[in-house]
Amino acid sequence: MNMNISRKEFLKKSLSSLGKAVFSVKDALTAQAEVPLVIADAAEYTPTPQEDQQAVADNEYCLAKNCGCFACVERCQSQAIKLIPGVGIRINAQLCIGCGSCEYVCPVTPKAVRMQARATKIPPQSALSAELPPKGESSC
Ligand code: SF4
Ligand code: SF4
Repeated sequence: MNMNISRKEFLKKSLSSLGKAVFSVKDALTAQAEVPLVIADAAEYTPTPQEDQQAVADNEYCLAKNCGCFACVERCQSQAIKLIPGVGIRINAQLCIGCGSCEYVCPVTPKAVRMQARATKIPPQSALSAELPPKGESSC
């Protein structure tokens, strides 16, 4: 299966089979570990940068493993999150400004992305200076 499709293409395909996808994701999660999905209203959250905080990924329940979700990627204004098919997400700590939006919108329980105290003092960088993905690494 070719995983190198754009997010736009993925969304188009997802919407065309939304009902089936929702049920299959729900069934898969229920069968796995009774993981409830909670869809947060992102408009209700005001992102506030916090220098001493950073987002960390816990990909065990991340739906991005199967390109089933990219809510945090869409919400992150710093472009600090990258989807890795088959793995989940990866967060660039240097781009993360600790705003907490990703944790807020993550629909799975327990959250697949969480905020924690920043391990080392790394001044956040501009998304424009973000490194390109390693060669051969695909994205959704
Ligand atoms: S905390 Fe904010 S800046 Fe950091 S990864 Fe999450 S959404 Fe992006
Ligand atoms: S919002 Fe949560 S489940 Fe969705 S891609 Fe991000 S970490 Fe994974």
